[in-house]
Amino acid sequence: MANPSFSSLHAVADRQAESADAAASTTPAAEGFAPRPDINRVLDVPAEVTDQVRRVFPVQWPRYYLDLAEQQGPDSAVARMGRPRLTELVQDQGDIADPIADRRQRPVPFVVQKHADRVIILATKKCHFYCRFCFRREEPVARAMELSRADWRCIFDFLRANPDIKEPILSGGDPLTLTDEHLAWVRSELETIPSVTHWRIHSRAPVHYPARVTTGLTAALQGRLPLRLVCHFNHRDEQTPQSLAAVARLQAAGVQVENQAVLLQGVNDSLAAQQALWQGLAAAGVKPRYLHHPDRVAGNAPFRVSIEQGRRLYTAMTQTLDPEQNPRYVIDLPDGTGKIPVAAMERQADGTYRYQHPDGRLSVYQDWC
Ligand code: SF4
Repeated sequence: MANPSFSSLHAVADRQAESADAAASTTPAAEGFAPRPDINRVLDVPAEVTDQVRRVFPVQWPRYYLDLAEQQGPDSAVARMGRPRLTELVQDQGDIADPIADRRQRPVPFVVQKHADRVIILATKKCHFYCRFCFRREEPVARAMELSRADWRCIFDFLRANPDIKEPILSGGDPLTLTDEHLAWVRSELETIPSVTHWRIHSRAPVHYPARVTTGLTAALQGRLPLRLVCHFNHRDEQTPQSLAAVARLQAAGVQVENQAVLLQGVNDSLAAQQALWQGLAAAGVKPRYLHHPDRVAGNAPFRVSIEQGRRLYTAMTQTLDPEQNPRYVIDLPDGTGKIPVAAMERQADGTYRYQHPDGRLSVYQDWC
């Protein structure tokens, strides 16, 4: 990782400030969210740091999650994931402008397609809480506009015209920032497309803002199509009575709840942290899905781990966790070929990693940690 240089700090902030503020101004109503002075006090961050950083990527904390950070202290995993830092404004040698080539694979606006049978729909730019490591952290500042009904109708037309697509995946941002009415409308429209057999939502709401999982929400999600909700617990400390109750409410409504986590430096990069995370989820009936190697977007350099560090940790996880509890450790490659198992990458003499896809394509990855 490059030594931080602050030379570009003001230029980056000025370039993105206008659109970032526009995005921040569209965040949900203040109820349930902490005022900024409380955020600064609990995280022990100077107000001027928060003010600079939020111009690049919004700073917002649900009261529930800030209380958790306060209970666990300013050096806890919860606090680290959301503490604004000036390093977010610094360019790093390892940054990649489009870290998983999402922007190059959009057949229609707001849709990412890397596989024939499923697509990601970027349903919103908003989140309840803005994780400082987020690989889509450039999206809210680059485009503050939300989808109109006309945008959604274009997406539904695209799905109708492409019957190989069986599974639309609502992602974002956090799709559960949409209203119950909007989600019910999206679900009912998807139900009219004969080729769609199931749908999926990626959301961190049960983790940050469990009060969002209301009976109104679960009613909006229930219908003809089976739903999987992939939540995003990164640490055992996030598994509280409130967040696990939110998971249980979803499960009681017939939703299959799974988890994907990101491997983060200083947050969950130890065997003990990973064991506690996945064992706790298993006890709650949450299926392990992915442990993601962190994507290298501008602003998240302090959270990155090296491929070798991740491989050593995952080997230890495989040796100690029940196979039913162990997620798949994957990296989403910058060349747009999708997720691959990190263990299958071959290290070369020049320090790069190669992966031969089953269809014969070759990917080369350069690590920067
Ligand atoms: S909730 Fe998801 S999309 Fe939103 S900031 Fe966190 S990781 Fe990114």
